[in-house]
Amino acid sequence: MTQFHESPLSDHAGRDRPANTVRVRFAPSPTGPMHVGGLRSALFNWLFARRHKGTFILRIEDTDRKRYEPEALSDLLTSLRWLGLDWDEGPEVGGDYGPYFQSERVDLYREYAHQLVENGHAYYCFCAPERLAQLREEQQRRKEFVGYDRHCRDLDPGQSVDRVTAGDTAVVRLKMPLAGQTTFHDMIRGDITVENSTQDDLILLKSDGYPTYHLANVVDDHLMGITHIMRADEWISTAPRHVQLYQALDWEMPAIAHLPVVLDPSGKGKMSKRKKASPDGRELPVLVRDFRAAGYLPEAMFNFLALVGWSYDGHTELMTMEEIVQRFSIEHINPAPAAFNYDKLDHVNGVYLRELGADDLADRMMPFLEQAGLAADRETVRRLVPLIRERVKRLDEAPGVVDFFFAEEPLAYDAALLIPKKMDAASTRVLLGQARAVLDEVSPFTHDLLETALRGLAEAMGVKSGQLFAPIRVAVCGRTVAPPLFGTLEVLGREHVLKRLDLGLERLRAIE
Ligand code: GLU
Repeated sequence: MTQFHESPLSDHAGRDRPANTVRVRFAPSPTGPMHVGGLRSALFNWLFARRHKGTFILRIEDTDRKRYEPEALSDLLTSLRWLGLDWDEGPEVGGDYGPYFQSERVDLYREYAHQLVENGHAYYCFCAPERLAQLREEQQRRKEFVGYDRHCRDLDPGQSVDRVTAGDTAVVRLKMPLAGQTTFHDMIRGDITVENSTQDDLILLKSDGYPTYHLANVVDDHLMGITHIMRADEWISTAPRHVQLYQALDWEMPAIAHLPVVLDPSGKGKMSKRKKASPDGRELPVLVRDFRAAGYLPEAMFNFLALVGWSYDGHTELMTMEEIVQRFSIEHINPAPAAFNYDKLDHVNGVYLRELGADDLADRMMPFLEQAGLAADRETVRRLVPLIRERVKRLDEAPGVVDFFFAEEPLAYDAALLIPKKMDAASTRVLLGQARAVLDEVSPFTHDLLETALRGLAEAMGVKSGQLFAPIRVAVCGRTVAPPLFGTLEVLGREHVLKRLDLGLERLRAIE
């Protein structure tokens, strides 16, 4: 196939592919770490491509050199891969419609901009930034429509070209029709019509020779054979001008949809760019990497995120990736803004977490335990899984639940916690001393035998089982709320259990 740089102005859309093949793209600008709203846009495009056995393209819109951040690209690729969104064409994958970095296609955009000037659809504008700033100020003061006043639109085209050739700084602007209306069909919102008089002359090429988003985006969507555009709602106001740009280029515009805005949990404001504190004091993630670090499972995130703005039948919440792919349709995307519900995400995550096999869950917990500085070995972690599975909704909660297993003795806790209600230090010490003697004998040191022995002891001592188990739990775990006791004792093993009981006894003696 011909490469663009060999034949930049030829029309590539539609070549060598069946007429009804879906080609969609996710076209992020690498200006910072990926936001969960961007991931949702990527997901919907990916779902649509997979649903229709089409092609999902990743295109990097990196022509804004001032806002470019080199680390943003790897963050982006990692984020997409984490969720399982593979791309068929794009960075690291290649494809017939490349290059997929807009910074490598700049000459192409320039040629289209100049072509538009030549055939009268665009013009050079020499207005200095100071003039434009002053203009804006005046328009704002007079409460008029704020936009370019078309000062350079009617300059003599020949003279304008001469000025550019002589080195005058200029941008290229699209000539919007001065009267009439522009209508386009949004696949989610229906027909949208605007008065052309409200649309100003869009800049296509900046004075540094770089294209604006509008030109590069339209040129690439066409040349890459994009059939359906699904993009963030914030772009809806530019769509009428894009319609005009397609017409000026004599290209057919792809079908287009603007995805519902993602709102913060209150449903009042747009989801913020930065973490926010939740009512329980936790920092709520908004960047994809922070969701990852918080221990959300990608499959849970996939399920949850698909339902931010889309629904299958209005109530089904748990669906596998395959089911979602099968069921996804643009018709069921709700145009209303969608609130991002962290509680629901935690709930969904907990469900997925509990469904994981023990080995799988242990593997996924390991990095979180290591990161928390716990000397956790995989074998022990695997044995802990049944004890803690019901107690964590996110993997980042795991270290706080299992840390005492890996803590070095002596455990740090307040000795007063050892004393159950209606008892004092001395009587607790007697009880714990008996427990120590019993636990020294139980063999093998396994759940059922431990349970029988300790329940028997409580009965023999005439105390409620809770009264006996509470000080054992505190001595062994260093806290009052912990995973089930007998399983905990078994995994911890006799040696550590006895060591911890001895320490508890010592502490009780000290406060008697
Ligand atoms: N580069 C644009 C962005 O990051 C792409 C918007 C679009 O999908 O057209 O928002």
